[in-house]
Amino acid sequence: MSSSNQKVIIVGGGPVGLTAAHALSRAGIDFTLLESRPSIVIDAGSNLVILPTGLRILGQLGLLETFNAVSSPLGRIRRFDHEGNDIGDANFFVHHKENHGIAPRVVSRHDVTRVLYESLPATIQSRLLANKRVSSVATTASSVTVTCTDGSVHTGSMLIGADGAHSFVRSQMRDLALAADAPAAAINPAQPFLTTYRAMWIRFPTQADLAPGDANETHGRDCAIQTFVGEETSVIGMYERLPAPTQDRLRYSAADEEDFVARWGDLPLSDEVTVRRAYESRVQAGMVSLEEGVVPNWSWGRMVLVGDAAHKFTPSTGAGCNNGMVDVVALVNEIVRALDGGDDVETAFAEYQKARFQAVVDGCAGAGRATATATWMNGIFKFVDLHVMKRKAVQKMLVDRAAHEIASTPVLECVEDGELLTGGKVPWAQGAQSRTALAAY
Ligand SMILES: Cc1cc2nc3c(=O)[nH]c(=O)nc-3n(C[C@H](O)[C@H](O)[C@H](O)COP(=O)(O)OP(=O)(O)OC[C@H]3O[C@@H](n4cnc5c(N)ncnc54)[C@H](O)[C@@H]3O)c2cc1C
Repeated sequence: MSSSNQKVIIVGGGPVGLTAAHALSRAGIDFTLLESRPSIVIDAGSNLVILPTGLRILGQLGLLETFNAVSSPLGRIRRFDHEGNDIGDANFFVHHKENHGIAPRVVSRHDVTRVLYESLPATIQSRLLANKRVSSVATTASSVTVTCTDGSVHTGSMLIGADGAHSFVRSQMRDLALAADAPAAAINPAQPFLTTYRAMWIRFPTQADLAPGDANETHGRDCAIQTFVGEETSVIGMYERLPAPTQDRLRYSAADEEDFVARWGDLPLSDEVTVRRAYESRVQAGMVSLEEGVVPNWSWGRMVLVGDAAHKFTPSTGAGCNNGMVDVVALVNEIVRALDGGDDVETAFAEYQKARFQAVVDGCAGAGRATATATWMNGIFKFVDLHVMKRKAVQKMLVDRAAHEIASTPVLECVEDGELLTGGKVPWAQGAQSRTALAAY
């Protein structure tokens, strides 16, 4: 096999699908990206914290400078309880910077997708098609053909499902596995995620005592808030525990938002700003379920999952999107290896899942614990939040314990740039290296 006769269909143009578009371009592999929304870049969605792993990938793609211009570095987090009492600062982001040479940064989903899309050369942008909702998938031993709701048909030699938590590609993989009488272990559950929390996010003009760069958290029983303050606007993510966990897909209306604010509107975001004040001056707001879980099988034949289609985290540790970006790096490295070495695509997909699975399982569990701690799920979590997590030595120990795992994340082997993130205490395990000519880029 060689890359010249391969074409990848990417389903989904969110941050992870767009990262895949960059990585495949860099590897010189042809692709078409199909996105159901009317435009690849839309001004909607919450904010994302991009951790050193995600920043390193953006650096490898040559996007760090552009990204820095639309994002803000994060440092100390001020923490309050529901009554506004100081429950001790958290220095997780500070220690990330010490360990990896760069502070995590916060960015709107709009800006991160804009940077990823606009930085692609026009010839490559033309391969990204909006208004294309994939509605069926058919496979042969060597190809995948998708049909969109507008009747258009697209064929490739493999398909990457980057279509989010309610992935259509994942459901098609299951149907194909069932139709092929696959062993039970190869068939994913129809609803692989469990929802214990829902989130409401609010974007509002930066105001009163909130200063650009501030990061605050409000903790307490059944509801926690993360506040990230930008130059012009700030965003809060509020995480509320559901009365009971569910596997059903929940959808929310404007009335649900109003009810949410009626329940939690008095909670403080800072000394002067409450949830209600933020909501009343909102620029945008939305409510979503926070599904959690890791899908057991990430591929079927020539179809493979990345990002939220494969694993869904609560946002408390800011890790879901970052892990999706690392998935893309690991997957594209395996695809390039298979194409160079004559291995089959299925083996490449299996190696990719093997490389990523445990890190994702651990990341998902860690995010769930962080949400349970911040929402005081029970007396033990409350005790840990108030009396253990406030200790600076514990915070440093937790970040240091994760540092070697973070430093072991792969780099895109097809990119020739040297290491951009130097200066951290923990050396990156795999240095950026040269491998493939970048003819297509
Ligand atoms: C409140 C909140 C805060 C968060 N904060 C962070 C954070 O700080 N850091 C972090 O790393 N992560 C965070 N996350 C998680 C992050 O948003 C996701 O992990 C990330 O968006 C996943 O990207 P994705 O591209 O895999 O999926 P998505 O962002 O869901 O994108 C999937 C895309 O596929 C398209 N699509 C779906 N079905 C089809 C179809 N049939 N055909 C064609 N296209 C289709 C969709 O329109 C969409 O554009 C947060 C999430 C929430 C809800």
